[in-house]
Amino acid sequence: MTSSAMSATPSIDGVTTGVIGHWIDGRRMAGSPDGTLPVFDPASGAVAAQVALASGPDLEAAVASSRAAFDTWRHSSIATRTKVMFAYREILSERREQLAAVITAQHGKVLSDAVGEVGRGIEVVEFACGVGELLKGTHNEQVSTDVDVWTVLQPVGPCVGITPFNFPAMVPLWMLPVAIACGNSFILKPSERDPGASVLLAEWFSEAGLPDGVFNVLQGDATAVNGLIDHPDVKAVSFVGSTPIARHVATSATERGRRVQALGGAKNHMIVLPDADLEAAADAAVSAGYGSAGERCMAISVVVAVDPVGDELVDAIVDRARALVIADGRDAAAEMGPLVTAAHRDRVRSYVDLGVEEGATLVLDGRDLAVEGRPDGFWLGPCLFDHVTTDMRIWSEEIFGPVLAVVRVASYDEAVALVERSPFGNGVALFTRDGGAARRFQQQIDAGMVGINVPIPVPVSYHSFGGWGASLFGDTKAHGTEGVHFYTRAKTVTARWADPATRGPDLGFPRNT
Ligand code: NAD
Repeated sequence: MTSSAMSATPSIDGVTTGVIGHWIDGRRMAGSPDGTLPVFDPASGAVAAQVALASGPDLEAAVASSRAAFDTWRHSSIATRTKVMFAYREILSERREQLAAVITAQHGKVLSDAVGEVGRGIEVVEFACGVGELLKGTHNEQVSTDVDVWTVLQPVGPCVGITPFNFPAMVPLWMLPVAIACGNSFILKPSERDPGASVLLAEWFSEAGLPDGVFNVLQGDATAVNGLIDHPDVKAVSFVGSTPIARHVATSATERGRRVQALGGAKNHMIVLPDADLEAAADAAVSAGYGSAGERCMAISVVVAVDPVGDELVDAIVDRARALVIADGRDAAAEMGPLVTAAHRDRVRSYVDLGVEEGATLVLDGRDLAVEGRPDGFWLGPCLFDHVTTDMRIWSEEIFGPVLAVVRVASYDEAVALVERSPFGNGVALFTRDGGAARRFQQQIDAGMVGINVPIPVPVSYHSFGGWGASLFGDTKAHGTEGVHFYTRAKTVTARWADPATRGPDLGFPRNT
């Protein structure tokens, strides 16, 4: 594959080159020069920039700024917040290609995919534009004689968002527009592997009129994460990433009395029933299995073929996967790009080796892929295993790369039982033409997000995103009304305006009369 028809790589100092630092109190901050990590261009394999790793003073500065900004922002009018959100929405919409180019340069996903990611993030900003409607409390008149009761939704305080590498714009945008529209301040700790987008998200919010300190970005790794969770001024923690870290964040934040929602990893299954449109199912398996090189929490990683569709389905998937154009994500023809880092590519490749050792049939082997003109990129071609069984680690563990497993089963019931043996409960899909089977499936299946003939059922912004089981720790999902619930505290006011004649001491427990 050649690298023709490329979009220009954006070169923005401190975003795609140089040292990518923090954004604190409305300005860029370099951070300590001692601690940095390299940020790669995954298509070329070159080090493109460095990212700052927050030190103690950086973290203190971010939290102090957030604390001070909260005290003012919490009292800002809904009209003010709405105006800022609308302006932010306009800026993001106008510059979505620029943001997408930064994502492609550091993550490696193809440009059209990055544009799609930004679009889904903008939808959450649009949701937050309706904050007046979202923050309506409830009111009961005359709950007792001369007594009214109402509940208002108030912000919780400085909130923190810790995000993964695979959606450097969309996942932060699941959190920060809702948190900020609800009157909170917000500190983002983005992934250290593709931190550039976070700086633009912050600068552009400031340009939209957001007061300094309401949104801060702190770059760093586990040290920054643990420092933020530990800080007594942080009131709520939103996390998205792998299951072991989600569990750690949920446990340590809970121990410290923080409100927490921690979304973890996934192993999403797609069941194909014998009556399904097999061509559509094969298209879906390839799109959802290899899109973004499988580095999506909603990627399909297991296809469950219900007899007798296995042979035909596997052949159709192989035909399509072989035809994929794998190239630098900036190449207009590219359908799949490289993996995010060499370390991650090697980890994914080790699972392909493991699958062979475990006895699965490797019908498509992407390990020897070479991309012309890009010898040092972090490449791995589409891999497909057939005859995978549930005692294999390639079935049970999250691989997070372009590796698709096919498990063959004899019946619908066997397929459902297999899906429910997985500890993850993020997304699941069913392909069928039978409405009754689909209805039964969506009712019974243990998963937070279900697709019927839809392989990647990502909820729209006004519904909420999140899985069950080992895919979500905490009890609220991201964005939608669950997001509003997470970023607000309910306060209930009981008020009496009584006629003076009814006054007098009464030591009994308040009765409603
Ligand atoms: P990760 O868990 O390695 O990192 C996520 C965040 O945690 C990063 O900001 C990272 O700096 C921080 N972190 C890493 N190690 C830490 C530690 N020991 N202590 C504290 N913080 C730590 O995840 P990733 O590799 O960046 O992203 C891929 C993972 O995210 C996959 O497992 C994927 O399924 C998951 N994901 C889940 C969802 C969802 O909605 N459930 C969405 C996107 C990604």
